[in-house]
Amino acid sequence: MSTENEKIKQRADAVIVGNYNRNPAALVKGEGCRLFDADGREYLDFLSGIAVCALGHCHPAVTEAICRQAGELVHVSNLFYTQPQTELAELLVANTFAEKVFFANSGAEANEAAIKLARIASDPGRYEIISLEGSFHGRTLATVAATGQTKFHQGFEPMPEGFAHAPFGDLMVLDNMITDSTCAILCEPIQGESGVRPLSKEYLQGIRTLCDKHDLFLIFDEVQTGMGRTGTLFAYEQLGVTPDIMTVAKALANGLPIGAMLTSSDIASALVPGTHASTFGGNPVVTAAAVATLKTMVAEGFLTGVRERGLYFREQLQKLVPRFPKLLADVRGVGMIWALVLTEAGTVHGADLVKRMFDHGYLINFAGNVALRFVPPLIVTTAEIDRLTTELAEVFAEY
Ligand SMILES: *Cc1c(COP(=O)(O)O)cnc(C)c1O
Repeated sequence: MSTENEKIKQRADAVIVGNYNRNPAALVKGEGCRLFDADGREYLDFLSGIAVCALGHCHPAVTEAICRQAGELVHVSNLFYTQPQTELAELLVANTFAEKVFFANSGAEANEAAIKLARIASDPGRYEIISLEGSFHGRTLATVAATGQTKFHQGFEPMPEGFAHAPFGDLMVLDNMITDSTCAILCEPIQGESGVRPLSKEYLQGIRTLCDKHDLFLIFDEVQTGMGRTGTLFAYEQLGVTPDIMTVAKALANGLPIGAMLTSSDIASALVPGTHASTFGGNPVVTAAAVATLKTMVAEGFLTGVRERGLYFREQLQKLVPRFPKLLADVRGVGMIWALVLTEAGTVHGADLVKRMFDHGYLINFAGNVALRFVPPLIVTTAEIDRLTTELAEVFAEY
């Protein structure tokens, strides 16, 4: 007899485009860091819907905000003003360098808005955006062109023009790549999809200096690093570097689809009526959820707790490295985004390790073909971290 999970899997595989590698579980309920599948199996979630459910599943404040707003007003388009969209923009402005916000529905769309803004706000003839090798900026054609990994381009050529990729970590080459047509440099403070690869403070400060020298916009893609993930509300706060344009998405509404592009009033003034738009962007229900999410994160003590438990998480991961030297090379990350980098020889085992952890009831993933990535809800407890690392040790010991 087939299980409920199998039944749903079979129905889905028959009618849904097969562009995802899915775990064989149909999830039906979530609470905090726990998820439950259709057969009642429990999972401890160190993936958070890929760094999205930062407050955990069904956080009461967010659920309450969604329900309240869904009973008031669901959608009106941006031909009108709404209270939740306005309040969210006020909160984002109050808690960042930015003065103006544009709302979209995803990370890729937030980056699209940033790309369009960088072009339209620049002098005529300046359109090229330089991003970094190993970066990830989304799956629309422009953001895939900005993404510095050829595996995402293959089969979709020709790529849109106006994108170049600089080798990771080399300021001199980057400087030499800047031409009269360059308008911006786009980067992630930590390359999440490439296996949690941080850009050093010095490197990012060097990029800022290059942008100032050549009069370019510095765009930070904080789609993954934003919203408390690194232990501060945004990663740039820890780096001594302020971008001109920043994109946010993933955790912004704790699970509802949203993206945002933040910038100064001066730069934003280039986006006059008719230049850019989104039907759903800043939808009342989604922004109400984001207001509840953001208020929870900026409340006294929340981010301090993330940093403290983040350090504890790092300690526990670091203990694993000398215990399994053939498998593990390094620990990297900050706040609540961590990776166990596998040894060169071990990388082939990454997907297998993830599968074994899944079989044991733990959700993690393998990023950039190099590292096991851990992006749990920011509310994860030290006891839950202990459970994960104990289980990891058991699975590693099987090798
Ligand atoms: C996930 C991600 C994106 C794309 O976001 P979508 O919501 O999937 O479009 C862009 N940039 C970074 C850094 C991401 O992690």
